[in-house]
Amino acid sequence: MKPATSCPCGSGRAFGACCGPALSGERPAPTAEALMRSRYTAFTLRDTAYLLASWHPSTRPQNLALDEQPPPKWIGLEVRAHRPLADDRAEVEFLARCRIGGRAQRLHETSRFVKEGGRWYYVDGDLHD
Ligand SMILES: [Zn+2]
Repeated sequence: MKPATSCPCGSGRAFGACCGPALSGERPAPTAEALMRSRYTAFTLRDTAYLLASWHPSTRPQNLALDEQPPPKWIGLEVRAHRPLADDRAEVEFLARCRIGGRAQRLHETSRFVKEGGRWYYVDGDLHD
């Protein structure tokens, strides 16, 4: 993805000034919300290596196959809340929208994040109806 392209996470910023540096490994996501946004962007780009690397080792799956057929088309992310709980813990509530085979789907989740060694990691999340 070109740095000047509008970032898939919907921040309104260019990819190169938003999720790009996190995905390339140039600069870790500075906040839990930024990490959450970068993971959404990684889903849209089917970047499994980044998704696994940003997953906390305690809950990280062995591997991640993004090979659903038909593939989901991610169409938007809305961050509803970013709740810092401590310097190294936070929750982010978000709504992600996609289309699977033409049918609209919503993923409404509150995700938990921890910071270790200067990096934020996704731990797990609770789905909302
Ligand atoms: Zn972004």
